[in-house]
Amino acid sequence: MFGLPMKPLLSLLSPGGRRGRLSILIYHRVLARDDPFAPWGIGAEGFTAQMAALRNHFNVIPLSEAIARLRSGSLPPRAAAVTFDDGYRDNLTVALPILRRYGIPATVFVASGFLDGGRMWNDTVAEALRVADGPFDLTDLDLGRWDLSEVDHRAAAFHQLLQRLKYLPQARRIDAATVIAERCGADLPTDFMLSSDELRSLHSAGVEIGGHTKTHPILAGLDDGLALSEIAGNRERLQEIIRAPIPVFAYPNGRPGRDYTETHVRMVRDCGYVGAVSTSSGTATRNSDLYQLPRFTPWDVTAGRFALRMARSMVGGTAARV
Ligand SMILES: [Zn+2]
Repeated sequence: MFGLPMKPLLSLLSPGGRRGRLSILIYHRVLARDDPFAPWGIGAEGFTAQMAALRNHFNVIPLSEAIARLRSGSLPPRAAAVTFDDGYRDNLTVALPILRRYGIPATVFVASGFLDGGRMWNDTVAEALRVADGPFDLTDLDLGRWDLSEVDHRAAAFHQLLQRLKYLPQARRIDAATVIAERCGADLPTDFMLSSDELRSLHSAGVEIGGHTKTHPILAGLDDGLALSEIAGNRERLQEIIRAPIPVFAYPNGRPGRDYTETHVRMVRDCGYVGAVSTSSGTATRNSDLYQLPRFTPWDVTAGRFALRMARSMVGGTAARV
């Protein structure tokens, strides 16, 4: 597999121009070291290997430029864009130096409500369970009883609770995360997400900033007024902080029809965004909806396998493990 001449194959699948194809990668955290309590993260070593492979095999361009070129039929061959969701601080401290080393542009989608010391509910649950110990009773919340005396029990409990909490109504989910944190009795870290100053630094370093709502709700679960305030308020706040346009948007959770609907697609377009991304898997062509572009997460960290995974995604194979 490693002896395969990948570049000609990729050029064949993604020739550029009107037949161009855009691969948009999705990341969340980039961790200084691997962490079972951050399943939405990739270790710095793996991320470095992926960026090196990307540099060698693809033409990586900023997402808003890629959208404009997709629209005009002028994509370069083997076009790719790199995106990060949520606005984690390690995008600045860990990912940016690696992106710079390989000259790779990127877009960070920021949920503005968590800037400056906020914490997303999933990180609250992760950090609470990381330090929890012994029996842990959540039966009053209808979330079971857990034995958290070993680290692998804690990690397993975290993964299971995450799945159960994910689709609760937003207020109940946040309440449950708060109760879980209180019962663990520890002070949880408040430096997960970017500060406003750090967001400005990221933008000054050439990283494109995108919208991702204020509080990261499942949009489909909100009434229209609230959904619009989440989408438009987020954009206004981010523009205020970086004093520059916010060109692109990512739907929280991002599954078409389940996490957001056509109503939200219209809201995003009417807000003035030039395009948006989902978490539906695949690569974009000129027939794709520019307001629902697919993305995927390649998980292979060896160059040959990474390139092969990218090629597979172009022909509709299994590229994602979301
Ligand atoms: Zn997100």
